[in-house]
Amino acid sequence: MQIDLHTLYFLTVGTLVVAAAMLLWERSANPFRARELGLWAGGAGLFVGGCLAAMNRTSFPGILGPAAANLSFVAGYLLWLHGARLLDGPAGGARWYAAALGGLALLWALAGTHFPQAIWNHVASLPVAVATGLTALAILRCRAMRGLRSRPLAVAIPLGHAGFYLARAVVVPPLAAAYGADVVSAVAKATMYEAVLYSVAMPMAFVALIREEAQDRLRDAARTDYLTGLSNRHGFFEQGDRMLAERAADAPVSLLAFDLDHFKTINDRYGHAAGDAVIRLFAIVARELTRDADDPEAIVARLGGEEFAALLPGRGLAEARRIGEEVALRFAEASTQGIRATVSIGLAEARPGRGDLVQLLDHADRALYRAKALGRNRIEVAGPAAA
Ligand code: GH3
Ligand code: MG
Ligand code: MG
Repeated sequence: MQIDLHTLYFLTVGTLVVAAAMLLWERSANPFRARELGLWAGGAGLFVGGCLAAMNRTSFPGILGPAAANLSFVAGYLLWLHGARLLDGPAGGARWYAAALGGLALLWALAGTHFPQAIWNHVASLPVAVATGLTALAILRCRAMRGLRSRPLAVAIPLGHAGFYLARAVVVPPLAAAYGADVVSAVAKATMYEAVLYSVAMPMAFVALIREEAQDRLRDAARTDYLTGLSNRHGFFEQGDRMLAERAADAPVSLLAFDLDHFKTINDRYGHAAGDAVIRLFAIVARELTRDADDPEAIVARLGGEEFAALLPGRGLAEARRIGEEVALRFAEASTQGIRATVSIGLAEARPGRGDLVQLLDHADRALYRAKALGRNRIEVAGPAAA
């Protein structure tokens, strides 16, 4: 099968236009990554410009054709690199990019006419290899993309591209010297064939990364309470069930169920917004105390309304009671907008080896109702029949 270079260029232009459109489409749906997607779409646009200049390079005077094509390509790679760097937040580097493009323009102007073979067939590959290698590195080191399934792919694809261009600069020259122009022509075709693949694979990897990240963000939002930033009921049961299932059979686990006292009256007296502030204040106190107890595994959640729960692995009744009493005391002392509030608490301990969170919460809730009945602002402990 024979495909001429011109056909490959046409194919590449087509795939790049589709890639740019796909990235812009994604951008309209994902304002959180609008800048990155815009840069990547812009990069694809510059590649299209580079291909058109390369296809028509003989229509330009002197070395203007290949130089314009090459600078267009390098600028496109720099946009892709910058987009990848932005994934982790603001990134500088404009001066470096400008210096690289200026330096290359100078090099092409000075050497492009004197050593055209060496420059256009080999040396011009180096900046591509460097920019793409840096893109792979940026994605590899990106904290925001850590743990995503598509990340290894999004690193491997530019890395392979960088390797290919490095080989063009380093391995091909001695081969061309030994075997002549046929090698150069074959490499030119291989380069364009690889460009067709890369112009599809890399934008798809970018989109896969962004989509997976958005999915993760949605999943987190579905497990997080908007008002307090704590886990919500869904997150509590998901994490709690997992934690109970994974714990050692003899490890103690306790659960504190909280319900703010006379909260309806607070709302009625001070308004709903002030009530929200009290809820946030309680969330801060509860989270700080479990953190003070040096318990990274503890799960503190807002189960709904003015009801909260804390699941404390590794804590028996005595320790959990001390933590609960501390929360009640500090919350009663704290105030927001001049409002003081109190909390009632029910405490239950899971039986060794048994891990039903619904039952455990039910036991803690019964103790909590007792705390309400006994006058509120206190902690009551469930009987030993806890799950
Ligand atoms: P008790 O001491 O027996 O717990 O009395 P209470 O008034 O706290 O209990 P009740 O269950 O009657 O009232 C809970 C109130 O919490 C009613 C509801 O309007 C309020 N509430 C629920 N969610 C929110 C919220 O997100 N913000 C505010 N401000 N109030 C809320
Ligand atoms: Mg309630
Ligand atoms: Mg209440």
